[in-house]
Amino acid sequence: MHEISLAQQLLKRLYDELDKRPEISCIESVKISIGELSCVEPGSFKRAFRLLAEETEFVETELEIERLAVRISCQSCGNSGIVQPGKLLCSNCGTALTRIVSGTEFYLDSITVGENIEEK
Ligand SMILES: [Zn+2]
Repeated sequence: MHEISLAQQLLKRLYDELDKRPEISCIESVKISIGELSCVEPGSFKRAFRLLAEETEFVETELEIERLAVRISCQSCGNSGIVQPGKLLCSNCGTALTRIVSGTEFYLDSITVGENIEEK
Protein backbone atom coordinates (compact mmCIF):
# COMPACT_ATOMS: atom_id res chain seq x y z
CA MET A 1 0.00 0.00 0.00
CA HIS A 2 1.12 3.46 -1.03
CA GLU A 3 0.33 5.08 2.33
CA ILE A 4 2.51 2.58 4.21
CA SER A 5 5.63 3.54 2.28
CA LEU A 6 4.89 7.24 2.79
CA ALA A 7 4.47 6.63 6.50
CA GLN A 8 7.81 4.77 6.52
CA GLN A 9 9.46 7.73 4.83
CA LEU A 10 7.96 10.06 7.41
CA LEU A 11 9.29 7.94 10.30
CA LYS A 12 12.71 7.90 8.67
CA ARG A 13 12.54 11.67 8.41
CA LEU A 14 11.70 11.91 12.13
CA TYR A 15 14.65 9.68 13.04
CA ASP A 16 16.92 11.88 10.91
CA GLU A 17 15.64 14.89 12.79
CA LEU A 18 16.48 13.29 16.15
CA ASP A 19 19.96 12.39 14.86
CA LYS A 20 20.70 15.86 13.60
CA ARG A 21 19.47 17.73 16.63
CA PRO A 22 20.64 16.24 19.94
CA GLU A 23 18.77 18.93 21.88
CA ILE A 24 15.49 17.32 20.91
CA SER A 25 14.11 14.93 23.49
CA CYS A 26 10.97 13.94 21.65
CA ILE A 27 8.82 14.85 18.71
CA GLU A 28 5.46 16.02 19.99
CA SER A 29 3.66 16.44 16.73
CA VAL A 30 4.09 16.49 12.99
CA LYS A 31 1.98 18.37 10.54
CA ILE A 32 1.52 17.00 7.04
CA SER A 33 -0.11 18.87 4.21
CA ILE A 34 -2.08 16.81 1.72
CA GLY A 35 -3.70 18.35 -1.34
CA GLU A 36 -7.31 17.42 -2.09
CA LEU A 37 -6.13 16.01 -5.42
CA SER A 38 -3.20 14.12 -4.01
CA CYS A 39 -3.53 10.37 -4.36
CA VAL A 40 -2.81 10.01 -0.65
CA GLU A 41 -5.89 9.24 1.39
CA PRO A 42 -5.48 11.05 4.77
CA GLY A 43 -7.35 8.42 6.79
CA SER A 44 -5.22 5.57 5.42
CA PHE A 45 -2.06 7.57 5.87
CA LYS A 46 -2.92 8.27 9.48
CA ARG A 47 -3.69 4.61 10.15
CA ALA A 48 -0.46 3.54 8.47
CA PHE A 49 1.54 6.01 10.54
CA ARG A 50 -0.09 4.91 13.81
CA LEU A 51 0.54 1.29 12.97
CA LEU A 52 4.22 1.81 12.17
CA ALA A 53 4.82 4.23 15.03
CA GLU A 54 3.42 1.82 17.59
CA GLU A 55 6.73 0.04 18.14
CA THR A 56 8.85 3.18 17.99
CA GLU A 57 9.59 6.19 20.13
CA PHE A 58 7.07 8.10 18.05
CA VAL A 59 4.12 6.25 19.50
CA GLU A 60 3.07 9.43 21.33
CA THR A 61 3.76 11.73 18.39
CA GLU A 62 0.62 13.42 17.19
CA LEU A 63 -0.06 13.44 13.49
CA GLU A 64 -1.88 16.46 12.20
CA ILE A 65 -3.12 16.54 8.64
CA GLU A 66 -3.98 19.67 6.77
CA ARG A 67 -5.97 19.39 3.56
CA LEU A 68 -4.98 21.83 0.85
CA ALA A 69 -7.68 23.04 -1.51
CA VAL A 70 -7.48 22.62 -5.26
CA ARG A 71 -6.63 25.81 -7.08
CA ILE A 72 -6.86 26.12 -10.84
CA SER A 73 -6.05 28.79 -13.33
CA CYS A 74 -8.05 29.17 -16.53
CA GLN A 75 -6.11 29.14 -19.77
CA SER A 76 -8.99 30.70 -21.61
CA CYS A 77 -9.95 33.76 -19.54
CA GLY A 78 -7.13 33.91 -17.00
CA ASN A 79 -9.40 33.50 -14.00
CA SER A 80 -7.99 31.56 -11.07
CA GLY A 81 -9.53 30.22 -7.93
CA ILE A 82 -10.34 27.38 -5.62
CA VAL A 83 -12.58 24.59 -6.89
CA GLN A 84 -14.01 21.33 -5.63
CA PRO A 85 -11.85 18.32 -6.46
CA GLY A 86 -13.47 16.65 -9.43
CA LYS A 87 -14.91 19.93 -10.73
CA LEU A 88 -11.99 21.44 -12.51
CA LEU A 89 -14.00 23.86 -14.63
CA CYS A 90 -13.39 27.59 -14.70
CA SER A 91 -15.94 29.28 -12.43
CA ASN A 92 -15.88 32.34 -14.64
CA CYS A 93 -16.24 31.06 -18.20
CA GLY A 94 -16.99 27.38 -17.63
CA THR A 95 -14.22 26.02 -19.81
CA ALA A 96 -12.35 22.85 -18.96
CA LEU A 97 -9.13 24.39 -20.27
CA THR A 98 -7.74 24.83 -16.82
CA ARG A 99 -4.40 24.15 -15.26
CA ILE A 100 -4.06 22.80 -11.73
CA VAL A 101 -1.98 25.26 -9.73
CA SER A 102 -2.11 23.45 -6.41
CA GLY A 103 -3.91 20.63 -4.69
CA THR A 104 -1.68 17.67 -5.54
CA GLU A 105 0.86 18.28 -2.79
CA PHE A 106 2.05 15.93 -0.12
CA TYR A 107 4.68 17.30 2.21
CA LEU A 108 5.92 17.60 5.74
CA ASP A 109 4.80 21.02 6.89
CA SER A 110 6.24 21.28 10.40
CA ILE A 111 7.57 19.36 13.37
CA THR A 112 6.91 20.34 16.97
CA VAL A 113 9.60 19.08 19.31
CA GLY A 114 10.21 18.76 23.01
CA GLU A 115 13.64 19.92 24.08
CA ASN A 116 16.02 18.38 26.55
CA ILE A 117 16.32 20.52 29.60
CA GLU A 118 19.92 20.85 30.70
CA GLU A 119 20.47 19.59 34.21
CA LYS A 120 23.46 20.76 36.15
ZN1 LIG B 1 -12.18 30.89 -17.63
